[in-house]
Amino acid sequence: MMRDSVIFKIENDIAVLRLCNPPVNALGASVRKALIEAAKAISGADVKAVVLFGYGRCFSAGADISEFGIEPPAGTPTLPETIAAIEDLKVPVVAALHGFAFGGALELAVGAHYRIAAAGTKLGLPEVDIGIIPGAGGTQRLPRLIGMKAAVDMVANGTRIDAARGHDLGLIDEVSETDSFEAAAIAYAMHLVAEGAGPRPTSKREDRLESASEAMALLDEIRTSIAKKAKGRVAPLRALDALAAATGGDFAAGMATERAIFLELRDGTEARAMRHLFKAERAAQKIDDAPTEPPAEIHKAGVVGFGTMGQGIALVLARAGVQVTAVEIDPARLEAGLASLKKGLQDRVDRGRMSPQQMQAELDLINGTTAMSGLAEADLVIEAALENMDVKTDIFRSLDGICKPGAILATNTSSLDLDTIAAATTRPDNVAGAHFFAPAQVMKLLEIVRGSATSGATAAALMALAKRIGKVGVVVGNAFGFVGNRMYHRYTWQAYFLLQEGALPSDVDAAMQDFGFPLGCLAVGDISGLDVAWQVRKAQRAAGDVDPDAPYPVVADRICEKGWFGRKTGRGWYSYADGKPAADAEVAALIEAVSAELGIERRAISADEIRERCLFALINEGARLLGTGIAVRPGDIDVVWRYGYGFPLWRGGPMFMADEIGMQDVLATLQRLEAAYGPAFTPAPLIAARAAAGKTTLVD
Ligand code: NAD
Repeated sequence: MMRDSVIFKIENDIAVLRLCNPPVNALGASVRKALIEAAKAISGADVKAVVLFGYGRCFSAGADISEFGIEPPAGTPTLPETIAAIEDLKVPVVAALHGFAFGGALELAVGAHYRIAAAGTKLGLPEVDIGIIPGAGGTQRLPRLIGMKAAVDMVANGTRIDAARGHDLGLIDEVSETDSFEAAAIAYAMHLVAEGAGPRPTSKREDRLESASEAMALLDEIRTSIAKKAKGRVAPLRALDALAAATGGDFAAGMATERAIFLELRDGTEARAMRHLFKAERAAQKIDDAPTEPPAEIHKAGVVGFGTMGQGIALVLARAGVQVTAVEIDPARLEAGLASLKKGLQDRVDRGRMSPQQMQAELDLINGTTAMSGLAEADLVIEAALENMDVKTDIFRSLDGICKPGAILATNTSSLDLDTIAAATTRPDNVAGAHFFAPAQVMKLLEIVRGSATSGATAAALMALAKRIGKVGVVVGNAFGFVGNRMYHRYTWQAYFLLQEGALPSDVDAAMQDFGFPLGCLAVGDISGLDVAWQVRKAQRAAGDVDPDAPYPVVADRICEKGWFGRKTGRGWYSYADGKPAADAEVAALIEAVSAELGIERRAISADEIRERCLFALINEGARLLGTGIAVRPGDIDVVWRYGYGFPLWRGGPMFMADEIGMQDVLATLQRLEAAYGPAFTPAPLIAARAAAGKTTLVD
């Protein structure tokens, strides 16, 4: 099908160009070609000015990222060439921006001679967020337009601004408040013509950029704080190098430097990792057996158990406009739940995070009862009561009798068998896990657990709900700990073994923070309470689920036997005398005593060893989950780790890392670790099979 990628008309001596590439006018090859052709046509025509619009809801979202990594057909103009053709026009060119102009689109606008924007238009160069820098002159033209300081914030931090701020900075010449923006933009161009204003190429401007020495001093000063925030990421620092190239007065040389850095980053690990996660997040939403019609909207929901998780879940539902009925076992607990919910909201109001009206609107949507019969009309019920199978099956049996046909019955269990819970009902196809992470108001991950009978429709309805409440849903299978916690468990066990062999808690956590996790797993354990995992270990041992011949993390039991459960008891792997985690001599003594008890001679352990063991424990368990179908795609696991555990974005996730390393090397490393540290590292069958088949990645 042929479609004009740029609609081109000449009206009253004004050439009007409209970028037309739905849905967001991405600047793909066809648009660039059409812009070049339009520029040629304009050069030969009798026009007095050019106005460049975006068709539909925005000016443009920028480059077409689906073109990344694909060589364009020979002769296709690059974006820098396209922008140069526009900038070289001999009549004034006005970029007329509405909705948003991001990335390459803002670079195109900056390559025009004048800019008018509809009030509220969003502007930004978010390339650093996908591991690259602007590659079409953004780092060279923007500082010439708004000065180095403001340019650094937009280019290296990726800060978005609105039209009004753009006007203050000199990026936007005119902000239009009218409803008829197109007419206003044409009128602005005619006004320029009437005033005799000529072309004003940004690349030749010198009035706004600081002197080379001033600009370089500013970049040096900012570099330290950017490096600290970047935590090992490359793109923000390379963005500064590209900006520095704008200071020499030689535009062409600056463009060449920018291009070289852009290409280096585009093909580098960081950008590929971020693109991988971007795509994986979208792919995770696909459920193969989902019905074709979209799921019915959820208007009314119930939450059973109004403790820590129940309150958080009720809040996220209410925030999305769902009416929530919370059920507790007695009036006192119900009152306590409502009081704690209100207190949490009041704290946010007091800190200026939300308005009193918002708080009231959320509270108005949440009501409480002690009668399960209050859930008869609910479209969805999420159970967040005690982690006990008898309690849960009782609740589901009674929900089955009370809830209307077709209602979704979900459990927030973190470890119990979903099929046993579903079997307490006569409608196991409507039963699923909705595994929120604590605090539910904050953490973006929702593991949607499918039991053997959960229907595609039920999973799809929960996926749609996840999107609506601002979470990222990932469908996982029914196995102890599902995907996230099952892998996390392997990682924490390695951390405990490392303590027993010679490391101290701060060694382990610092190594993982250096890798890019916001916190190490021992500090996280102190926050969530070490007793929770202790209870699970006891239950697993009682059930015979712990291999008596495999290494066991005795140290984690010993610390709990002392009653040191973490922050809530003032001491865990760290002590919390003044609220902040501090190394604790008694904890160190306890760890050393455990080493002696186990007959282990403590040794110095390097940060590299800590990272290797923790990360390969994750990779190996992830591959097992893939091999058994508990995880559907490698990318699903990476999304779980990004949003549930803060795996650093620019590293892509444990499965992305495995593919980067390559199966042969992953297998060899696991074999070496298995020989030294035992069965935790016995290679997952999937890894062994892929390596044997000569494949480098986990899946084709
Ligand atoms: P919690 O103890 O804070 O709250 C549980 C609430 O359920 C209590 O208020 C209790 O009175 C109520 N309750 C018990 N039996 C009930 C019944 N029959 N009917 C109605 N209410 C009942 O516990 P929590 O931390 O909110 O955990 C709830 C569930 O969420 C558990 O299954 C847990 O494994 C899971 N979970 C917890 C976390 C977490 O970090 N806390 C994270 C993910 C999942």
